[in-house]
Amino acid sequence: MAIVVMKFGGTSVGSIERINRVASHVAREVRAGNQVAVVVSAMSGETNRLIGLTQEAASLHDAKEYDTVVATGEQVTCGLLAMNLQQYGIRARSWLGWQIPIRTVGLHSAARIDSIGTDGLMADLENGVVTVIPGFQGVSLDGRVTTLGRGGSDTSAVAVAAALNAERCDIYTDVDGVYTTDPRIESKARKIDRISYEEMLELASQGAKVLQTRSVQLAKVHNVKLKVLSSFIDPENCTEDDLAGTLVCDEGDIVEQLVVSGIAYSRDEAKITLRHVPDKPGIAAEIFGNLADAGVNVDMIVQNTSEDGKTTDLTFTVPEAEADRAVTSLRDAARKGEFGEIQADKNVSKISIVGTGMRSHSGVARKMFETLAAKGINILVISTSEIKVSVLIESEYTELAVRALHSAYELDKV
Ligand code: ADP
Ligand code: ASP
Ligand code: MG
Repeated sequence: MAIVVMKFGGTSVGSIERINRVASHVAREVRAGNQVAVVVSAMSGETNRLIGLTQEAASLHDAKEYDTVVATGEQVTCGLLAMNLQQYGIRARSWLGWQIPIRTVGLHSAARIDSIGTDGLMADLENGVVTVIPGFQGVSLDGRVTTLGRGGSDTSAVAVAAALNAERCDIYTDVDGVYTTDPRIESKARKIDRISYEEMLELASQGAKVLQTRSVQLAKVHNVKLKVLSSFIDPENCTEDDLAGTLVCDEGDIVEQLVVSGIAYSRDEAKITLRHVPDKPGIAAEIFGNLADAGVNVDMIVQNTSEDGKTTDLTFTVPEAEADRAVTSLRDAARKGEFGEIQADKNVSKISIVGTGMRSHSGVARKMFETLAAKGINILVISTSEIKVSVLIESEYTELAVRALHSAYELDKV
């Protein structure tokens, strides 16, 4: 018998009616003769509500208590689904993160899964019991509840699939697959049948929240067969086509390689510029050392050439939520006169084009810059990787830029 992991996101478990539908999907896989482990998110809006409560309770919250609170959303859904499945006559039980255990390391609220105990889960699966597991949560080595960062249930699902050596990991969500860009902002976006791990990794890390970045990394490393599909299809009456979704797979398994496969955007960006930074060895190490000590993640970096041979301007981007911390961590150095003013701008977005075909085609970046120029959109910072070009722009142009690029690379036509 094959083990199948099915993950259902927040919208898919957003009401008892929807949990009923989830139970029918699970029943379908059980009827097909599979051993099923289900991973669930909190009901939609619940994690935000819980975070709001922690903010009301204490302005400077303790990360361990924050995790204790926000992990509860998944616990509720997991119990509700297990009892709903039992009502269908399917044997099911819930397993919380600490009971399994899903051991994590690293910071609270951004923990990483280190290992998953499989004995209890395997015993249940072999006895024909569906195991219902809360996504997003784990337990630290010292026994405290942890969470994996927003969107972390995807990662829980892939980690469970890897640990159980599952035949596949199906991520059920509110869209029927991975699209050429977010269908919420470009109605002409098309569903992609197959996408490589590398491209999905870039799209996710550049803002396509359909899969959490870490889940794609784990799937690639452990060779987990990962599929994204809709939970809104009729579980009693669905065709192979309905269940096709998007397969995330090795590059070699994709026949047609496009130059640009998808476009991602992220509004969660802030640009920080340090003026009059001395043009001397060691200064970048000091600045970025301060930022690293403050736990700030730096993404794009540009250093202008020095006009007078003495000072330059240094610009970099950080997640919006980390901008204030970044500025605070550099203020001492600025006060000591090590460089001039610090300017922070939170009104920026990052737009990225992604495609493995870029490795073998020239002119891809040029088309991006020309397309944005034709719309009068100014580029503030540029960064590239082998299969990606990202630009930072003013956030008011986000939709315009995504739509213009989507059409320029003919993603609506393929
Ligand atoms: P879940 O609650 O199921 O985890 P998410 O809200 O985290 O669902 O992710 C699904 C959403 O991701 C979609 O509703 C869609 O708006 C957004 N999204 C962003 N980029 C893409 C993309 N390239 N393809 C599909 N969905 C995308
Ligand atoms: N409930 C968590 C969140 O909203 C985890 C998840 O849904 O993946 O971020
Ligand atoms: Mg999600």
